[in-house]
Amino acid sequence: MTDPLVSVESLTKQFRSGGETVTVFRGLDLTLADAESLALMGPSGSGKSTLLNLLSGLDTWSEGRIRLFGEALTSADEARWTELRRRHIATVFQEANLMPAMTLAENLRLRAGLAGRQRPDTDAWLEDLGLGGLGNRFPDQVSGGQRQRAALAMAFAMAPRLILADEPTGSLDRRTAARVADTLFRFQRRYRCPLILATHDPELAERCDRSFTLGQRD
Ligand code: ADP
Ligand code: MG
Repeated sequence: MTDPLVSVESLTKQFRSGGETVTVFRGLDLTLADAESLALMGPSGSGKSTLLNLLSGLDTWSEGRIRLFGEALTSADEARWTELRRRHIATVFQEANLMPAMTLAENLRLRAGLAGRQRPDTDAWLEDLGLGGLGNRFPDQVSGGQRQRAALAMAFAMAPRLILADEPTGSLDRRTAARVADTLFRFQRRYRCPLILATHDPELAERCDRSFTLGQRD
């Protein structure tokens, strides 16, 4: 049997705040198969963002194991996490993480270049995401929905092995959010790219292959 693409075993995450220990989750088990999309659900404060941070190596955990792409990783493997984030893990957040001083096309080229993709066809990507002709605009010269689609273009142009999306449509109005979600799922399916999508929107979760709910207390 092949390893799952992502495997989380008995993961416990605690924060220390003001002398107190807050347990976000304890003994969490989760796997993601190749090409699968998983909705990470749960109320605000249930640990969705925390889990995505752990899966991208941006935070340390207390107990348990994380395996990515068949490789066991610990919180201490900082250089390896950095390499994985640069080359293989695309992150898409609620607010599009674009460099404000660079045009959309430059943002895309930079992100793809960091991932080792030389000469990405930025025009084709932008066109494909409904941003044809906007490549020379700066992020503050386009709408929120267009920024979010540019962030998706960046994610896809790097040909990631995993996309971690944290409420990527959370800051958009309903109609724009629907359009961005359509784009995300269309590309996810076309490239069979594994996706973990944190959302509290049941309609969005419904579009994933599977969902996993955090914060269910026993
Ligand atoms: P969600 O994304 O599901 O809304 P979060 O992952 O942001 O939830 O937060 C989960 C819990 O962890 C919350 O109780 C939050 O207050 C706590 N938390 C998150 N980050 C920190 C931090 N840096 N220090 C202390 N507590 C934190
Ligand atoms: Mg969150």
